[in-house]
Amino acid sequence: MSDDGLVELVLRSTRVITPAGTRAASVAVSAGRITAVLAHDAEVPAGARLEDFGDDVLLPGLVDTHVHVNDPGRTEWEGFWTATRAAAAGGITTLVDMPLNSLPPTTTVDHLRTKQDVARTKAHIDIGFWGGALPDNVKDLRPLHDAGVFGFKAFLSPSGVDEFPELDQEQLARSLAEIAGFGGLLIVHAEDPHHLAAAPQKSGRKYADFLASRPRDAEDTAIANVIAQAGRLDARVHVLHLSSSDALPLIAAAKREGVRVTAETCPHYLTLTAEEVPDGASEFKCCPPIREAANQDLLWQALADGTIDCVVTDHSPSTADLKTDDFATAWGGISGLQLSLSAVWTEARKRGHTLEDVVRWMSSGTAELVGLDDRKGAIEAGRDADFAVLAPDETFTVDPAALQHRNRVTAYAGRTLYGVVRSTWLRGERVVSEGEFTEPTGQLLSRRR
Ligand SMILES: [Zn+2]
Repeated sequence: MSDDGLVELVLRSTRVITPAGTRAASVAVSAGRITAVLAHDAEVPAGARLEDFGDDVLLPGLVDTHVHVNDPGRTEWEGFWTATRAAAAGGITTLVDMPLNSLPPTTTVDHLRTKQDVARTKAHIDIGFWGGALPDNVKDLRPLHDAGVFGFKAFLSPSGVDEFPELDQEQLARSLAEIAGFGGLLIVHAEDPHHLAAAPQKSGRKYADFLASRPRDAEDTAIANVIAQAGRLDARVHVLHLSSSDALPLIAAAKREGVRVTAETCPHYLTLTAEEVPDGASEFKCCPPIREAANQDLLWQALADGTIDCVVTDHSPSTADLKTDDFATAWGGISGLQLSLSAVWTEARKRGHTLEDVVRWMSSGTAELVGLDDRKGAIEAGRDADFAVLAPDETFTVDPAALQHRNRVTAYAGRTLYGVVRSTWLRGERVVSEGEFTEPTGQLLSRRR
């Protein structure tokens, strides 16, 4: 590493995805940062190493702002070592960890420190943290904000774990007012508990019964309530893992009216459909659920028109024994870290979208969501030298044995996907190449002040 501005590394490709479009270029790197994007045939400075990727695409490392690492406490579900290896293998160079499913949950500064201490030596990529908003921790929100969390997650319906209770409307208003007071961000799992309670709850192996138990109107109502509160308080809110296309007009209208709301969706909502989920196949279970093909078409439209801002994995694994064949009781969560780029790209290209679109949804858009867009999410001078090298026209068939996350349960087994990640680079160092990893060099990130 050099601190004197000398270029140490030049990455060259005929297809470099920059904010100004895709072009043949050479990217100069010094001390872990991009110093310049030069002509493809630019002279390599004396002493610098050249990596020429030919026609493989050089894109900014993905920023995945929705990952459940579960470490410490439920490390048998997932840990920082395995999650960050899976992420790196999939072209992700930054993840932001959700506050729940680890023990402790990230709901006080002490708990945040505990998590950071565990993550520090195991991170193959950079890691940031979300805080959690619980009914009884309003006093902890500002200290957590000051300690560098990127925002606060709240549930409006039961979260699935006892230590992370949901907020009712009054508690939501109180937390949101506090967060708005210091200019923070609230991110919401938006399903309304009353609509869920009113839906038919049948146990068993039938996916249709599970789908009926998590109706669209539960999402639509919760999102309407969150938007109303955000508008009233001029607060910044973000809708997590949007599945119901019926909520899209609400979000679009709120954005037009100046409400500070953004939304994300996930690879599984964009690439898998309710019609194809086999009975008993709870590797497809998540909440809100994967819905019908017609719903999926509208999610893609909303990505194209900007109603949905970004795509994140919501990687939320458990041990295999909790993925029983009863949809009512099986753990809800899909493990997508390693396959998210290829899964989304496979469907995107079929629908006429470009890799630039995918980069906008999965790298620059997410970096912007968490305020990391001074360092991450684009190939331009001044940003961290984080990259994925992708062979976009090459295919592979998903073999669970090749996955790096701890419990190799996957909804993508046997699928043929476009886009092979050849290597992933973090601050100018190759962290994985053809399945070979270096020692972890990831850093812990804090919200920009
Ligand atoms: Zn989640």
